[in-house]
Amino acid sequence: MDLPQELQERLKNVSNLPSPSRVAMAIMDLARDPDLNLTAVAGLINKDPALATKILRTANSALFAQRRRSDNLRKALIVLGLNATLTLALSFTLVNGFRKQQVEGINLPQFWRHCLLSATSSRVIGEVLGRTDTEDLFLAGLLQDIGILAVDKAMPGFYADAPEQFDHAALRCHELDQLGADHADFGAWLLNHWNMPQRLVDAVAASHADGQPVDDQFNACVAMSGRVAAFCLAQDRESTADLAEEFETTTGYPTERLGDILMRLQEQVPDVESLYESSLIEADQAEQILDQAREILMLRNLQALRTAETRNQQLEEANRRDALTGMFNRAHMVTMLEQEFAASVENSWPLSVAFIDLDKFKQINDTHGHLAGDKLLISTATALVDNLRDSDIVTRYGGDEFVIIMPGTDHEMACAAGRRVSAQMARVEHDLGNNLTLPVTLSIGIASYDRDNRFDNVDELLAAADAAVYAVKANGRNGYATWTELKSAGEAPAAPKRDYRVADAAV
Ligand code: GH3
Ligand code: MG
Repeated sequence: MDLPQELQERLKNVSNLPSPSRVAMAIMDLARDPDLNLTAVAGLINKDPALATKILRTANSALFAQRRRSDNLRKALIVLGLNATLTLALSFTLVNGFRKQQVEGINLPQFWRHCLLSATSSRVIGEVLGRTDTEDLFLAGLLQDIGILAVDKAMPGFYADAPEQFDHAALRCHELDQLGADHADFGAWLLNHWNMPQRLVDAVAASHADGQPVDDQFNACVAMSGRVAAFCLAQDRESTADLAEEFETTTGYPTERLGDILMRLQEQVPDVESLYESSLIEADQAEQILDQAREILMLRNLQALRTAETRNQQLEEANRRDALTGMFNRAHMVTMLEQEFAASVENSWPLSVAFIDLDKFKQINDTHGHLAGDKLLISTATALVDNLRDSDIVTRYGGDEFVIIMPGTDHEMACAAGRRVSAQMARVEHDLGNNLTLPVTLSIGIASYDRDNRFDNVDELLAAADAAVYAVKANGRNGYATWTELKSAGEAPAAPKRDYRVADAAV
């Protein structure tokens, strides 16, 4: 937002507006020179021995991790790059010039702490997002609150009735309330007045994003840096989750980057503290920031863990299913039956199993093709589910065979189910595609574990049901038989010798 005209006029008439020192002006002039060269930059910086020392120390600090030490300024300039050096030099001189300015009502040490921490955050955010103009980001982060100095000069005493501590958000509310503009607007005006690069002016203008997305990445880094700094300095630390959410909205990057940013920030703070001769954060604050960073990174790990878990569950579920019909497969049928059988034994609950084999299925394959056969298997599975109780579990045993597990079902109930399902299924017209619909009959063999019928294990129960199917087949198909009835009639065929746990060779 542009500063209201009336405020602009007021600022123009202020004689003692904060202004860059002569050295800073010279640096800015040089930065605008299209023929910028090493000798000119070195010459300028060498005029200020304190500044030259700082540049040299910066080049050798961990902030610029490089292998060779720079033992002179020229080497340092090569390491840092000319533009970055000038930007750095500007940061140093501006901080030196402005940190002595008193503002009534503002806790100045805390203000500068906030500025330097914003600057460092801005650089770190840029680094983590893969940007190379990190010194420009540092400077923009540093200057984003410079408007406060301008407001104070234009309206002396303005901050005297602002919140006592340097509470950034509260300060801004006070400005908007009283002036209709905030210090970001004043700061942008001031930087423009100083003839600073437009990019810097824009970034400062956009620096109070209010949780809105910031399209330009440079501006987003700067906008986020103030929030990160406020977060680090807050007395009663707000929730990490809020900051993480704001980070995602403002920058469009996932939260986990914020964890990396906080980690790196607290690594860089000691170097910045020493170069700018300020203490930024206390040891316990640094420890807390590390904790927050770990918390955010842990969130990411948790998310990754959860995704892996879901994927595993999906895989497991897929492993339990038969690919053609989507019913549980044979291996999982055995697992479930084991569980049901154990529960029945323990609690004396009844349990029935129905073995089902389609009648003359081969003929359908031979007459209408394998694809039609597949459709019939799928349709049969669905029809079985539709015609059974919810508690009954339909599984595909393999080929044209299905096994139904019927927990809580004794011999009588199983007979009733066998009768009903047999009749209903025979009436179903299965859609096999190509305008072909066909019914198919089933041979159903039932075995029950209940008060009157005992089995030692699952294999015996399955063998009994399987044997009952043979009886139905032998009896002309399309119907059901139970092991119990066959046994009492003395007609029980010998239990077939099959391994019910291992899948047959592909049919
Ligand atoms: P019966 O009444 O005696 O059971 O006669 P049937 O023709 O149904 O004989 P059987 O149960 O032995 O035949 C099963 C056939 O099922 C043999 C095999 O070719 C076929 N089959 C097995 N798996 C599949 C499958 O996934 N898709 C199709 N289309 N056919 C299959
Ligand atoms: Mg069959």
